[in-house]
Amino acid sequence: METKILSTSEYDIALAGEIIAKGGLVAFPTETVYGLGADALNENAVKSIYAAKGRPSDNPLIVHICEKEDIVPLVKEVTPKARALMDAFFPGPLTIILPKSDRVGNVVSGGLDTVAVRMPQNDIARRLIRAAGCPVAAPSANTSGLPSPTRAKYVIEDMNGKIDAIIDGGDCEFGVESTVITLAGDVPTILRPGAVTKEMIESVIGKTEVARAVLEGMKNDEVAASPGMKYKHYAPKAQVVIVDAEKEVYENFVNSRENAFALCFEGDNVTVDKVTYGRENDDLSQARELFDALRQLDEMGAKKVYARIPHTTGVGMAVYNRLIRAAAFKIIDLRKPFFIGLTGPTGAGKGYVSSRLAEMGFNILDADKYVKKIYDNNPGILNRLASEFGNDIIINGELDRKKLAQIAFSSKENTKRLNSIVHPEVISLCERDAKPLAVLDAPQLFEAGAADKCYKIISVIADYETRLRRITERDKITQEQAVSRMNAQFDESYYINNSDFVIYNNGEDIDSQIKKIMEEIL
Ligand code: AMP
Ligand code: MG
Repeated sequence: METKILSTSEYDIALAGEIIAKGGLVAFPTETVYGLGADALNENAVKSIYAAKGRPSDNPLIVHICEKEDIVPLVKEVTPKARALMDAFFPGPLTIILPKSDRVGNVVSGGLDTVAVRMPQNDIARRLIRAAGCPVAAPSANTSGLPSPTRAKYVIEDMNGKIDAIIDGGDCEFGVESTVITLAGDVPTILRPGAVTKEMIESVIGKTEVARAVLEGMKNDEVAASPGMKYKHYAPKAQVVIVDAEKEVYENFVNSRENAFALCFEGDNVTVDKVTYGRENDDLSQARELFDALRQLDEMGAKKVYARIPHTTGVGMAVYNRLIRAAAFKIIDLRKPFFIGLTGPTGAGKGYVSSRLAEMGFNILDADKYVKKIYDNNPGILNRLASEFGNDIIINGELDRKKLAQIAFSSKENTKRLNSIVHPEVISLCERDAKPLAVLDAPQLFEAGAADKCYKIISVIADYETRLRRITERDKITQEQAVSRMNAQFDESYYINNSDFVIYNNGEDIDSQIKKIMEEIL
């Protein structure tokens, strides 16, 4: 099929209107993104939209109208809240979902008994709908799954040869799709955030919820309130990972990655290849530029992209919502004190993994070393130990370590009491010394309650027999002593169940396991 590229002249708009009226497909600009329009009341025409986009047929389309009153025949009833929202935000980037009338077919509604309606503000869009003489069903004019098009050239890239015409109307003002709100349930609920914010909506109709999936993504067994929430979306070919960190931590992180691209804000101090999406404290500029930036990254051949996280308030919610889908929900959290917690039962070989991570440039905090250091120049902790275990563990103001060990390890109860003093102290000292990408290397990571302070946890595991052999050889202790030490720890399944990753060390290749894990984390 030959796709006509049309201008915004009277003649061309009239032609485009005629194409739609006859059942054809026309891409056109709106204030949000480019739409791919067809006569909403012509089921065959609507079907061809799904085909051109490769869109799943259960993901309904938005019906665009050019006058407020055009909504009336499409819905069962224009409720008072719908009326209030229309008065406040039509025309504009807000889509309202209501129970549909019989005039709206099942193809356009994706099989649902509701319909989504919007009255765009963009003058070209309005003129086109008027020229078509019918409500116009239109999703974004991109191949399903790719970033929505904010410029005509991206529509041409995706749709040339697949549709009848494309109206070139310049760049879109907002750059993210409309806010979608459903009024079909008990409480008004935002299913997709956009330039009309929750705050703006609440100022008109009061209490409004935001669907959980908007900011968190969907769990596997969850039912989508909006079918569009189910699919990975807006994604460029490059793999995008969001980095949750302050500006400077982000900059250092991305600058230390090899072959990575940055998706950051104007003025960010980034030395790798980068594309910016707006300014840090200007969510409208971020919204306007995000999809364009994602497309540019593909043009530059980016394979791996680290994106700076936007604020999630106001229009930022819409920006974040699109970005987490472009990233397939992959977010690296650099705000936790420790990037990795490394643990495992005694004798498994955690030490080797730790040394490899150190060579790879991670900042290792060895909890055992801190345990040895915590008693030095630390009268606070000595006093607490004395009051817990008796004054004779202190001689001349110094700790008698042997004595303390004797008492503390004489019973499980005493060990617990010692740990409750030592663990928090050790963890807080490690936290104090932690640099970005810190690894907390701690045999008692779980016992110390430090798991929550780590972004990811890796446990090093080995067979019982192997560990027994290693411990007796390494520490020159008897089988019996080794067994009693081993039995005092969690069993293997505990480590496996409470870790994000497990490294097996019975002779397997450790480096390749580390590499694989790091690829997944980073
Ligand atoms: P797009 O066409 O790309 O702008 O996406 C339209 C969005 O509105 C998609 O996420 C749809 O799933 C959603 N949508 C449209 N109609 C309905 C409806 N009746 N109920 C729930 N979500 C809808
Ligand atoms: Mg879309």
